Amino acid sequence: MKFRLPFRHRTAPAAADTGPAWEQPGHFKSGDTVHMPPDSVRETVVWVEGDLVGVEFHPRFGPSSVGTSDVRHLEGCEPCMVDARRQGEEEQAREETYWAQWPDEDRDLYDRVMEGRVVVGDRPRRYRFGDRTPVREWMRTELDGHLLDDEMPSLTMGRIWDPVDWPRLEREYGDDGLTIINPWETVLWPTIRSAFVVLQQAGYSPALDASVEMDRLDDGTIGAEVIVSALMVDGPIDADTYGQAVALLGDATEFPHTWLRYESYPDRPGRDLSQPYQPDERNVTGWNWSGGDWMGTFNPPAQETTSH
Ligand SMILES: [Zn+2]
Repeated sequence: MKFRLPFRHRTAPAAADTGPAWEQPGHFKSGDTVHMPPDSVRETVVWVEGDLVGVEFHPRFGPSSVGTSDVRHLEGCEPCMVDARRQGEEEQAREETYWAQWPDEDRDLYDRVMEGRVVVGDRPRRYRFGDRTPVREWMRTELDGHLLDDEMPSLTMGRIWDPVDWPRLEREYGDDGLTIINPWETVLWPTIRSAFVVLQQAGYSPALDASVEMDRLDDGTIGAEVIVSALMVDGPIDADTYGQAVALLGDATEFPHTWLRYESYPDRPGRDLSQPYQPDERNVTGWNWSGGDWMGTFNPPAQETTSH
C-alpha cells in the first residue's frame, strides 16, 4: 500500500463491551509493543484514549492515532497473536492469488532482474540495474541510482521519489519502452503531466511517486511502465502556481494537501491529511491519488490502458 507510513489513517469502531480482547477497555497500555497485522512493523504504544491508541514506530515521525481494532500485541498476548497469525495467513493467500496472474516466464524474468540489481547507496537503499539485465539502455542512464525498494507485490523494479524529469523522458523514450499511467483514474497522466510542467516552468523541481513496473517488450528486452501515485514538491509553492496546479488537478477533499517531510519535527503542521493545504517549509506540497484496494489495480490488464 502506498504511503502506509507515516501517512496512514485508520478509523476506529465504536467501543464494545463484548467482543474481541483487543477491543476491551484497558487492553493496551503505554509501553506495549504492538503491530498492525498483516504488517509486521514493530511499534510502541505511547498513549491510550478510549478506543484509540497512539503508536510510534520511530521517534522522528511522532505517534499516529490508530483504532484498537487495527492493533495487536506483538508478544505476550494469546488472543492478539492468534488473530495476527490468521490475518497474516489470509494476506499471504491473497498475495499468492494475485501473483498467479502473471505468466511464469514473466515472473522468472522479473526474479532475474531483481537478483541482478546492484546497490549504489544507502539510507534509503538505492539501486542500479545490473550490467547484464536486459533493460532498455536509457533505463540505465536515466534511472540508475534513483531506484528505491518498492513495496508493491507486483513486477515492480523499484520506486522513484527523486525529481526526475519525467515529461522529458516520455518525449525521448516514449517509443522506446516507456509508458506512464495513473491507474487510479481519478486524474489521468496527461493532466498530471501538465501540472508537472507548470511546476517546472515556475522554477520548482517536481517529483512523482513512481513505481517502475517491468514491461516485457516484443524484442525480449524490458521496458518500464511507470505507475504514478503522487505529484509533489518539497516545501510550499507560490499562490499563482498553486492556483494553476489546482485548476488542473482539482481540489477534492483528499487533495491537494501537504504531507510531512521525513526530516521534519513533531511540532510540524500537516499531520492531518483531512486539513486544507498548509504551506510550510517543513512540508511537502503534494497530490496523492493512491489508496483503496491496490490489488486489482496493479494487474496485467492495466498495461493496456496506457495513454501518452
Ligand atoms: Zn493483546
